[in-house]
Amino acid sequence: MAQNKVQFQKSISFSQFLKDYGTEEQCFNALAEWRWPDGFHCPLCNHDKYGQLTIRKLYPCNACHHQTSVTAGTILQSTKLPLTFWIH
Ligand SMILES: [Zn+2]
Repeated sequence: MAQNKVQFQKSISFSQFLKDYGTEEQCFNALAEWRWPDGFHCPLCNHDKYGQLTIRKLYPCNACHHQTSVTAGTILQSTKLPLTFWIH
C-alpha cells in the first residue's frame, strides 16, 4: 500500500523536525509554535493578535502594544547565545 505522505510527515518526532530547521530563523519559528501552540497570546492582556514583528523579533500586541519576545519568561531570555545552540 502506498504510504500516505501527509500521515508520514505528521509522524515525524519533534526532535527530528528540529533537525530540519537548523537556522536561527527556523528555530525562532519553531520556538514560537512551542510557546504559543494555540497561536500568539499577549502576556499582559491575553489579546491574540499581534502586529508586524520588529527587527529584534518582538511581537507587538495589537491591543496594548506591549512587545514580547518568543523567549520572554524562559531560560532563553537570559542568554545571548544563538537559539540554534539550545536546539542542537
Ligand atoms: Zn496586550
